[in-house]
Amino acid sequence: MDYTKLANLLFPQIKKTPEDYETIYPVRNLPEGAKVTRLGPSPTGFIHLGNLYGAFAGERLAHQSGGVFFLRIEDTDDKREVQGAVPMLINALHHFGVHFDEGAGIGGETGDYGPYYQSQRGELYQCFAKHLVAKGLAYPCFLTEGEIAEIRLKQEAQKLNPGIYGTWAKHRDLTFEEIVDRISSGQPYVVRFRSNGNPDSHFTVIDGIRGELTMPENDQDVVILKRTGIPTYHFAHVVDDHFMRTTHVVRGEEWLSSLPIHVALFSALGWSLPIYCHTTVLMKMDGETKRKLSKRKDPELSLEYYKQEGYHPFAVREYLLTILNSNFEEFRLANPDAQIDEFKFTTDKMSNSGTLFDLDKLNDVSKEVLAKLSAEEIFFFLLQWSRAYQPALAEMMAGKEEQMLRILSIDRGGNKPRKDFIYCRQIFHFISYFFDEHFIIEDEYPKEVPLKDVKEILNRYFQVYDESDSQEDWFEKIRTITSDLGYAVKPKDFKKNPDQYKGHVGHVSNVIRLALTGRTNSPDLWEIQQIMGLKQVQGRIAQAFQDIG
Ligand code: GLU
Repeated sequence: MDYTKLANLLFPQIKKTPEDYETIYPVRNLPEGAKVTRLGPSPTGFIHLGNLYGAFAGERLAHQSGGVFFLRIEDTDDKREVQGAVPMLINALHHFGVHFDEGAGIGGETGDYGPYYQSQRGELYQCFAKHLVAKGLAYPCFLTEGEIAEIRLKQEAQKLNPGIYGTWAKHRDLTFEEIVDRISSGQPYVVRFRSNGNPDSHFTVIDGIRGELTMPENDQDVVILKRTGIPTYHFAHVVDDHFMRTTHVVRGEEWLSSLPIHVALFSALGWSLPIYCHTTVLMKMDGETKRKLSKRKDPELSLEYYKQEGYHPFAVREYLLTILNSNFEEFRLANPDAQIDEFKFTTDKMSNSGTLFDLDKLNDVSKEVLAKLSAEEIFFFLLQWSRAYQPALAEMMAGKEEQMLRILSIDRGGNKPRKDFIYCRQIFHFISYFFDEHFIIEDEYPKEVPLKDVKEILNRYFQVYDESDSQEDWFEKIRTITSDLGYAVKPKDFKKNPDQYKGHVGHVSNVIRLALTGRTNSPDLWEIQQIMGLKQVQGRIAQAFQDIG
């Protein structure tokens, strides 16, 4: 068979040669050791934590080494494509601090290695499909779906591996004339790779995360161009990662099993292999068992979840680094104030067996991260979030900047700041008692204090409360009410002699706290009242008094 003739028959429109593309996309001029990484999402409209996890890894590898991190849109499967998915994806990644140096962007693309949409690179893929056909390493296959299903049934019956390979690859050796006949009679065809691999032989590659991997060679004649001429993922990413000069392919573990195909394609095309870095899937504890995070069951898999709840991007990034690199927490302990990018990220400290994602841990990390932000930063973040997700709250905050800053500053300065804030929705709930329209009684009066005493405490407090009292004087008044009503001024006296007192000063203050905040646990009460102002304090106390009846 004259393969060049076949290649020209199949791809008459392709005039460029492989060498032309080597010139169009030259080897990048980067310093020694600089890594080129990419994110290759499909525009399905669903961006998940796994994408962000991989994106951080790729971004760090590139930017730490003075390399390039680019965005390539893998839109060869139009069935899964969702309108508007690309800007959404870019915005979501930007929100979490992932920035690309080149590739697809909101206002068009940047970079010399584009187009960065696979759907616009058709001619390039066809050129290399043609090249493989010309070398006898690819061929047109006219098998219909029915014929393929039949093959599969036979393979199942004989307990053989499924697929088109070896003698099952019936159209490997059609003659030129047979091919011409089929094409002229309008039979659709795909282009398959002609595999020379032997699954009884093994090859070894070094995975950037998993180390040495030994796998059986590929023997499948995989499809490289579909009937529409559109490439499959296998073929497109090989051509793209070669010509975009990717040095490290960071991608999900689900691609590991097709690595033999990719290795075979790189080798058939005579190109050197990038370093594959297969990340692990994210798992969660479900009762006693560990399972994969699932799109259907776990809303926290979607990045939108973190935006909706109002997690600060710094917190998400900080947490993801703790699960990306096992030594990050150690670094953080030793360098509590360091910028996150000072940490040296490495693939060999990445887990290679199911990374455990834990929302409680994220929340703990978030508390630490937010405790380091200023009240202004938190206010600004709350404002941005509420404009997008809770416009009524944004309206409520309008013109209240000074009050909000005071609220957000309570007990947060100094060297032992409170760590109450986790994410916007929770922060709003946490501070909601300051706003009459959101105020509700959540807890109960302490059981040590009978209702009759509750009334008496509130009544007396109402009489003596003076906004201009210092914290000391204010507390002295509470002590007086405490002892007058038969409660211990010092909690330890009550603990020692519980029969002598009804309760202690903490119980009495909690009556006031509950009336003012609706809760029995809150930051510093004196401070809260200073922010509320006399009218609101009196109003709350009077309301609580009335509610008891
Ligand atoms: N388009 C593939 C996906 O969305 C990307 C795989 C890769 O990064 O190579 O899963």
